[in-house]
Amino acid sequence: MAELEGLEFGKSDFVLLDEVTMEQFMENLKLRFEKGRIYTYIGEVVVSVNPYQQMDIYGKETIDAYRGRELYENPPHLYAVSDAAYKAMKRRAKDTCIVISGESGAGKTEASKYIMQYIAAITNPSQRKEVESVKNVLLKSNCVLEAFGNAKTNRNDNSSRFGKYMDINFNFNGDPTGGHINNYLLEKSRVVHQQEGERNFHSFYQLLRGGSQDMLASFHLVNDPAVYTYTKEGATSNNDRSSHKAVMSALEVIGFTKEEINSIYQILASILLLGNMQFESDGESVQIQGLEAVNQISELTDTEPDSVSKTLLYRTVATGGGEVIEKGHTEQEACFGRDAFAKALYERLFGWIVSRINSVIEVKDYNPVLHGKNTVIGVLDIYGFEIFDNNSFEQFCINYCNEKLQQLFIELILRQEQGEYQREGITWQHIDYFNNQIIVDLVEQSHKGIISILDEACLTVGKVTDTVCLDSMDTKLAQHPHYTSRKLSPADKTMDFQKDFRIRHYAGDVTYSVEGFLDKNKDMLYQDFKRLMYNSANPVLKEMWPDGHLSITEVTKRPLTAATLFKNSIVALVDKLACKEPYYVRCIKPNEVKSPVLFDDARCEHQVAYLGLMENVMVRRAGFAYRQPYARFLQRYKMTCEYTWPNHLMASDREAVEAIVTQHGFQDDVAYGHTKLFVRTPRSLFTLEQERAALI
Ligand code: ADP
Ligand code: MG
Repeated sequence: MAELEGLEFGKSDFVLLDEVTMEQFMENLKLRFEKGRIYTYIGEVVVSVNPYQQMDIYGKETIDAYRGRELYENPPHLYAVSDAAYKAMKRRAKDTCIVISGESGAGKTEASKYIMQYIAAITNPSQRKEVESVKNVLLKSNCVLEAFGNAKTNRNDNSSRFGKYMDINFNFNGDPTGGHINNYLLEKSRVVHQQEGERNFHSFYQLLRGGSQDMLASFHLVNDPAVYTYTKEGATSNNDRSSHKAVMSALEVIGFTKEEINSIYQILASILLLGNMQFESDGESVQIQGLEAVNQISELTDTEPDSVSKTLLYRTVATGGGEVIEKGHTEQEACFGRDAFAKALYERLFGWIVSRINSVIEVKDYNPVLHGKNTVIGVLDIYGFEIFDNNSFEQFCINYCNEKLQQLFIELILRQEQGEYQREGITWQHIDYFNNQIIVDLVEQSHKGIISILDEACLTVGKVTDTVCLDSMDTKLAQHPHYTSRKLSPADKTMDFQKDFRIRHYAGDVTYSVEGFLDKNKDMLYQDFKRLMYNSANPVLKEMWPDGHLSITEVTKRPLTAATLFKNSIVALVDKLACKEPYYVRCIKPNEVKSPVLFDDARCEHQVAYLGLMENVMVRRAGFAYRQPYARFLQRYKMTCEYTWPNHLMASDREAVEAIVTQHGFQDDVAYGHTKLFVRTPRSLFTLEQERAALI
């Protein structure tokens, strides 16, 4: 809380604003950004503004300054909350989590890396080898995950196209002993298609630009992304080549074998070759143009060329009578199958890489009796709210995820406050929030929610089109205050009659085009591709496709849809977070042009509004803005009172604190908890701080 830097840098905690108005909030945020102070608190929440330039605030001296200190002893920083989470974990054996939120490009992933680096830097002072190696793998995993899971988008040159939640496990010494990564909804449609100005995943360009001539030749590739349908849209970036080296070496450090690394790149090569494959139809049957690619793909995937071409052209179907027949694709079906296969190959590759990393860092042989309680710090870096010009199924899932996380934020921030007052025996009055539960329900409620309606449409036999599905949503959701469409609001010409529906999200209105929703939700891949991969002689590939062993008659007819799988994974994530002590980093993107000097007032204000930061400040202030354990309070302010300086002679620290409070005349502004002093308005502490500053 201390105003350590003087007011020319603005207030280091929004709770200290004279009045809680949007105007004052924005003024403070802007002033601090312009002065290079990118972090500001709301109590224990860090608000961060992306500086879009390298800041000299992450070095060893800074780490040392924050290590083991309390939040208010230093200027606001990610390191301070990281330390708070770490201390809670170490001293109180609490599982904690750091939830990083904000829209694409706001700085979430960078923040998550600084947090991990901080934790790595402050642990294992005795340099034990096993611990160092766990830390190393945890840090190196970022490089690999970014290569395979990040891409250049129009909003962010290094945008994470998957959600990541990483648990770091600690032993009783507070040293990392392992970890686990959960990944969420990789945007696999990017493998086959990118919007103008965007790129495919970095890994493809890194291979093409950074792979050695020998490697590329053995994969039947040339070193030019423009040659491949899947990569020709994206320009190459300057660092693809050096990144390739870094990724190769990270893979080795983590413990991937040579064969595994080779298999990874063979799969990438197969995907690129698949993308260039064309089909032709003579009216009766469909053929593959140029069989060379078939041979190359079969070589790269260790499968039979005949099986490859057959799988691309036919599918096996079980008839009603239990008979199994082969049905030739139309040209359109063949193209659809090819792209679905390419996407699935990539998605499974990514999933396999994550599980392979997990197998290395998994905590083994942990014996709680011998080693004490195994505690966890979780770090969540998941896609932020997205509004594009065209919003599809992916944005729908991502925005639903953000609704869930906002719901958690509301619940935890309130619950935490209320819990603290209760524990300390202090009465507290309730503050009203906009509760977004109603939007969460709109999406996920069984039978009535959008996901249910989508699933129902996907399971209906026969020709159910996206438009039919939209009609069904319109009928069932007509009365919902957060749902509309052109049919329901005919005057709104910005929406398309056949395709669009709109959700009023907590962060703003988003118009989704229902086109492609059903296909993406069904996420259909002909079984034949799964069997082809399962029968590969390459053990790595085989491992990625365990479901390929099912014969056509054994295959479940109603697999879970993509939206339902995603919903289940997000519900599980929220459950995991909810039982941990949360710390929050709320990231703000200052402008759309990646400028280090531009503060776009309207854009920033919008983010502050939808992140609920004003309400956050109000809750913090309506209750008690500050609280401190009696001993800490004394230590800091005892010199401001004759009865406590240099030491007090009272029966308890609490009484000594009472003496200080009374001497300064703000006894009406405080409440005495069992272990802590609660101060309602910041002004009181301000006075104390000033007095203290005058004395030292
Ligand atoms: P998000 O994960 O929220 O989409 P990123 O963390 O990838 O956003 O940040 C986008 C870009 O902004 C980064 O590639 C980097 O150039 C810049 N950036 C973000 N945070 C910082 C920071 N703390 N210091 C310097 N640059 C940053
Ligand atoms: Mg990111």
